[in-house]
Amino acid sequence: MKEIVLLGSTGSIGTQTLQVAKLHNIKVKALSANSNVNLLAEQVREFSPDFVCIYDKNKYEDLKLLLSDTDTKILCGKEGLCEISAIPCDITVNAIVGMAGFMPTVSAIYAGNNIALANKETLVVGGEIIKRLAKEKNVNIFPIDSEHSAIFQSLLAGQGNKPKKIILTASGGPFRGFSSEQLKSVTKEQALRHPNWVMGAKITIDSATMMNKGLELIEAVWLFDVLPEQIEIVVHPQSILHSAVEYEDGSVIGQLGMPDMKIPIQLALTYPERFVTNTAHLSLTDIGSLTFEKPDEDVFSCIGLARKAIRIGGNMPCIMNCANEAAVDMFLKDKIKFYEIPEKISFLMDKIRYTETISPEIIEQTEREVKEQMK
Ligand code: NAD
Ligand code: MG
Repeated sequence: MKEIVLLGSTGSIGTQTLQVAKLHNIKVKALSANSNVNLLAEQVREFSPDFVCIYDKNKYEDLKLLLSDTDTKILCGKEGLCEISAIPCDITVNAIVGMAGFMPTVSAIYAGNNIALANKETLVVGGEIIKRLAKEKNVNIFPIDSEHSAIFQSLLAGQGNKPKKIILTASGGPFRGFSSEQLKSVTKEQALRHPNWVMGAKITIDSATMMNKGLELIEAVWLFDVLPEQIEIVVHPQSILHSAVEYEDGSVIGQLGMPDMKIPIQLALTYPERFVTNTAHLSLTDIGSLTFEKPDEDVFSCIGLARKAIRIGGNMPCIMNCANEAAVDMFLKDKIKFYEIPEKISFLMDKIRYTETISPEIIEQTEREVKEQMK
């Protein structure tokens, strides 16, 4: 029986991870969330972890009260989060949203825990650091992101042969086929309605701007040791082929399945074994046709911004990521329009101080500078 620590347990990936844990009797040693104390307390009652951490210190007393009759030890804040991510276990699952997930990942790797990573922002802001540390500590990073799980699985077929190319698929989001003019008038409600996946608000907006694919391109560069130029983004609206790898001989190996995150979550927890899932199985004849098209990078300029950021390197992907998090937050609070998201990011990529090297301190400093500018 495996033991996990779960960061971000109240979110979309977090709750689905708990469903997988329940189905396969995986022991949950610790849980954590940002501020949703009620759901977190319910989860503690159901899974009886040794530790629970609430990031928002203002909610610490509330959580303590809710759990006063349990044996679970309660922690809070960033320190608490880093402490629980380092609890000895088979896998620390990082399902936090945003770059707040970076330091807990570092902490888990230092402790020698393998990582199941949903939190792509960790690799976008500090991929170089994470890769170096993981190698040093002999820690595995199992991707949860469906595309990266597909690439991971497709690479197994290569038995160590280097891929020539990675085909990173994208649904295209709710605004596929829109012109720049049409994007000027889209609403928050439209942007939050993803055609194929039900996810947290931030990644849903990232999917609508296609910044999600930009973040995933950078995530793939670090996870699979490929150049950005080796990654082709292909829009595939049915979200059935979750990504593929092309080898030198022209063979393309991909992974297909229903769009259900429980499949990649479970594989990250049980790899190399494959257990049953309680999700619908794929019927290709029911689906009928799979279609593919090029993304419109003129309209969805976030893809180009991500390519530019990883080409420049240093703290540029971090600047881009912080700017994106801040811009998406402003959009969700009705402070800016949808089309202003890439504009803000591009502006900050020119404005914020660039550094060639990257460290946890530089990442924090960059975040502070971006927040200051976005005020
Ligand atoms: P979500 O908003 O539904 O959940 C986020 C979780 O993180 C919550 O439990 C929240 O309490 C916690 N959290 C937020 N801020 C925090 C902070 N500062 N400190 C500690 N905890 C914090 O998000 P989600 O959709 O589950 O996405 C989580 C991550 O997984 C993101 O990086 C996203 O890009 C990635 N991802 C999600 C999906 C999906 O289907 N939802 C698919 C692929 C990748
Ligand atoms: Mg994805």
